[in-house]
Amino acid sequence: MRRLLALVCLLAPLVVGAAQHTITSPDGTLTLTVSLREGQLFYAVQCDNQTVVEPSRLGLRSNNGDYSDHLSLCNWQEGRIDKQYTLSRAKVSASHYVANQLLVELKNAKGRLFSVEFRLDNHNLAFRYLLPKDGEEASIRILEELTAFRFPDFTTTFLTPQSDPMVGWKRSKPSYEEEYEADAPMHQPSQFGRGYTFPALFHVGERGWVLVSETDVDSRYCGSRLTDYSIEKGYQIAFPMVEENNGNGTSEPAMALPAETPWRTLTLGRDLKPIVETTIPWDLVEERYAPSIPYRMGRSTWSWIIWQDPSMNFEDQCRYIDLAEAMGYEYILIDAGWDSEIGYERMPELFAYARQRGVEPFLWYSSSGYWNDITQSPVNRMDNPIRRKAEMRWMREQGVRGIKVDFWGGDKQETMRLYEAVLSDANDYGLMVIFHGCTLPRGWERMYPNFVGSEAVLASENLVFGQHHCDREAFKATLHPFIRNTVASMEFGGVVLNKRLNRTNDGGSTRRTGDVFQLATAILFQNPIQNFALTPNNLEDAPDFCIDFMREVPTTWDEVRLLDGYPGRYVVLARRHGSTWWIGGVNATTEELTLQLELPEEITTATLYRDDATLQPTRSQTRIKHHRLPITLTPNGGMVLIERETK
Ligand code: CA
Repeated sequence: MRRLLALVCLLAPLVVGAAQHTITSPDGTLTLTVSLREGQLFYAVQCDNQTVVEPSRLGLRSNNGDYSDHLSLCNWQEGRIDKQYTLSRAKVSASHYVANQLLVELKNAKGRLFSVEFRLDNHNLAFRYLLPKDGEEASIRILEELTAFRFPDFTTTFLTPQSDPMVGWKRSKPSYEEEYEADAPMHQPSQFGRGYTFPALFHVGERGWVLVSETDVDSRYCGSRLTDYSIEKGYQIAFPMVEENNGNGTSEPAMALPAETPWRTLTLGRDLKPIVETTIPWDLVEERYAPSIPYRMGRSTWSWIIWQDPSMNFEDQCRYIDLAEAMGYEYILIDAGWDSEIGYERMPELFAYARQRGVEPFLWYSSSGYWNDITQSPVNRMDNPIRRKAEMRWMREQGVRGIKVDFWGGDKQETMRLYEAVLSDANDYGLMVIFHGCTLPRGWERMYPNFVGSEAVLASENLVFGQHHCDREAFKATLHPFIRNTVASMEFGGVVLNKRLNRTNDGGSTRRTGDVFQLATAILFQNPIQNFALTPNNLEDAPDFCIDFMREVPTTWDEVRLLDGYPGRYVVLARRHGSTWWIGGVNATTEELTLQLELPEEITTATLYRDDATLQPTRSQTRIKHHRLPITLTPNGGMVLIERETK
């Protein structure tokens, strides 16, 4: 691309007045129009000849000058991208990305060159800015990105607000743990007046759906978000808030020249299938380094999720190692406080206990640091490269397989640098990495081979924290497959088989959803290592066939298909692992839902799990005729179908 950028600027008179250029997706369903009007650059998208994205502004303002106004066109250049690659830890195992490409070369009022690169495949538009090294200046600071997203005025939204900075638990926000609202009008102000975090879903009435996000974000840029809506601009890209990271580090990203910004992505479809099935976050990125060892995905137990802080002791951790062994799970996640409550000196004894049972440990760390008031320990071991590497060396000696790093400082470039540094160092010591209290991963499943998944969602812990979250559990579960989890792995930590969310299964908040609903979330929610919320008592008090299911359910997938659904109401999707389809569905409405599912063709016999009308779990063998399955989903209930007969 830099080679293309080096093209000599062509005839300026070409661009007097308006100029526009159109490309279509390879199958012709999507049309991108890029236009220069009175020195400003705009893009618009049509889906089946109907406008889904109205003319929306492009451009940057930088310390080196304005790249948004008084622009003139140098050249349009078309190309085509065709690439295939494999994935080991995302929602599919392979992708064939075919896109038409448009490179728009421009110069600003000072005669400085820059380009916007667009890629349009059958379901996604992606674009980014390319800034050449022009003269003596070898670096640039981006002060504002004018990139906007404007939709027809009847569009409704499925958005989650950005939080205020330096608020919440020990001043650890923002951490992408806010509530969604479904089908809200665009003009409604965001909850905190801070706009919205990615990904953002828009329903453009009968014309279709658009999911807006970004990818290829690493230490070279900040994580961005969307502003509130305005009639003139629509939604505009916004940079992190100055107060994030305890005020340290700038909001505006800086890059060495020549530079490429992250990709802004729009996934578009007449229906929701392209939204759920998109691979655009990975189609646009490359692996940043090679894995130092082969990383093994799998399942894990963790005591903290239901038994909470008091379980951080040697005996309880042994019980959860026993549970992992009984379930055939590969890992145990030993959560916050192990250093103070068990102690570094005694950890080798716990690791030996795990090793004898074929279970390998993940250890919890705080990322902080100076960016919040977190005292859950260990602290101050991941923020500094000298201490971090010493800690990781110890972990490697002890046979630790991964880390969960919690409580991050926000979205500034300064924080992105730390994410990348932790990932890169961890790879040097053969450690996998889970992030909690954190930002949305943006392409990281492919960029960093030891990255497992991130929280960046109101996760299962909230079921323990309050009844409100139990009451809203089904609603949220029907959003994530369409929004948060479609662009990145989601460290949700779910599948709760306790009826009550306390240690003795007799107090705390009350689960409203059925057991099969819970099993279905193991399929609906994708993360390549699942830290399941099972407890030792579930081996005795949960139905045997539910435990059998939890022994068998995979955590890595080859393919995903949306079968039916509407965000906030219900969802049924199919994931394939090897030659077996696993289907999960849940109902968040207050009515019984009768669906006619069209199944993948291969399925002829199957085991069907269903919550009945009283939310009791059932299991039956079923023959599938003509790939169709009529099914009734109870409110707060779920279904699971496995493509095979079980004993
Ligand atoms: Ca959290």
